[in-house]
Amino acid sequence: MNKDPRKVELKKAWSEQEHRKVIASLPMPPQDLRDLFDHLEDDGAAECDPTLRVTTEFLPKRGLDVERIVPWSREHGGHCDCEVFANIEDEFSEILGKYDHAA
Ligand SMILES: [Zn+2]
Repeated sequence: MNKDPRKVELKKAWSEQEHRKVIASLPMPPQDLRDLFDHLEDDGAAECDPTLRVTTEFLPKRGLDVERIVPWSREHGGHCDCEVFANIEDEFSEILGKYDHAA
């Protein structure tokens, strides 16, 4: 069976749109989120308090709004540093990876 090229195009457009929507829903620039994951991987996630100490120290250094990002983090299963790394990285790494390729 041949694939309808218009359907393929539509699907591609849809996923790009979804991708942009997810990026737009992030409470910080995607690059900062990636850097946060890197930072947690190097320092923090392994020796979780368990609080968001490393995350909440990192955010203001980037001029990011802790008050806005912490509730977002909890909503996505990141209640402490190791959970931010485990759950949020898991949820967004693919989309951030795509962002990386597009950049
Ligand atoms: Zn933890």
